[in-house]
Amino acid sequence: MKVFDELNPPARLLLGPGPSPVHPRVMRALGAPVLGHLDPELLRLLDDTRGLLRDAFRTGNELTLAVSGTGMAGMESVLGGLLEPGDRLVVCAAGFFGHRMAELASRMDVEVTKVEKGWGEVFTPGEVEAAVAAAKPKAVAIVHAETSTGALQPMDGLGEIAHRHDALLIVDCVTSLGGVPVEIEGWGADAAYSGSQKCLGCPSGMAPVTVSPRAREVMAGRGRPAHSWYLDLDLLERYWGGAHAYHHTISSSLVYALREGLRLVAEEGLEARWGRHRPNAEMLWDGLEAMGLALHVADPALRVPSLTTVRVPDGVDEAQVRGRLRDEYGIEIGAGLGPLKGQVWRIGLMGHGSQKANVILLLAALVDLLKRP
Ligand SMILES: *Cc1c(COP(=O)(O)O)cnc(C)c1O
Repeated sequence: MKVFDELNPPARLLLGPGPSPVHPRVMRALGAPVLGHLDPELLRLLDDTRGLLRDAFRTGNELTLAVSGTGMAGMESVLGGLLEPGDRLVVCAAGFFGHRMAELASRMDVEVTKVEKGWGEVFTPGEVEAAVAAAKPKAVAIVHAETSTGALQPMDGLGEIAHRHDALLIVDCVTSLGGVPVEIEGWGADAAYSGSQKCLGCPSGMAPVTVSPRAREVMAGRGRPAHSWYLDLDLLERYWGGAHAYHHTISSSLVYALREGLRLVAEEGLEARWGRHRPNAEMLWDGLEAMGLALHVADPALRVPSLTTVRVPDGVDEAQVRGRLRDEYGIEIGAGLGPLKGQVWRIGLMGHGSQKANVILLLAALVDLLKRP
């Protein structure tokens, strides 16, 4: 039998669209002894975790937990929990993840009305209202921070619009939670999901989810159970909540990591954390523009502080620059997706990765690489 070489992954500075650099305290938490999924101590840690998640999401929603899986599992659990085959859903799509929500809901036989805008644009309340008024959907879904374009969707008024038309508001907060202001209750959002590996600074594998009492009522009135058994939020709530009924063998290690990541968020303070991500992003934007590069989202107020899209200059081999960044500097950044493939680089300053020293290192590396043939 072949004995493979000893595990020795290189230390990368993760400045792409996720995963982001993991805080050393989170790495230590991952190494703590494994506990059974029904151990009273693990159940206590789950309870801490949901409390910390409520604070991070800025909600009092009872149904707040982390699904075992990545951000996509969060998306599937929310869409599959709130919607049944034949239900109508409006999806606002101006990038890769908006289109993904639409595709996923279609697979659940939900009747999807997709409202589309260009990759890098955001929706006005008027556009959302027009779509909701025309389609009369059960829910409207929108991406808060579109990681494929770097555009930040303004959320003011969207909850009211949805509720005025008797619809639920579903928000993708994968790249915003813990780095950019998220106000689930303030927005009137009925369901939101995120991922552990973006601004929460953990490895991937846990997807925070929160569901409002209004949306829970809708869930309770379903004609048939949720489309996925594994991602069924009712069953997951029975495990995380009072009864602690066995549902699946949750990874205690990932729970420790998420709890530690959230403890770091609480210690720093949400406002302070947002107040760190924003100026570090501004420093990056200023630096890139000083180098003569153009940012894909022109209006700074509509840029995601945790994810910047910068245009690849004419005549530059974008994959070669990314490869050299990785091989010579140990830095990972992301490529463009969909229509932005080959057009932009995606630079993440997320969680523990949002630091001035990282901005300077990346800018200096880009200056070096862009002047080479
Ligand atoms: C990363 C991301 C997802 C998907 O998360 P995974 O952890 O890759 O499954 C969904 N939506 C947005 C906006 C994202 O940035």
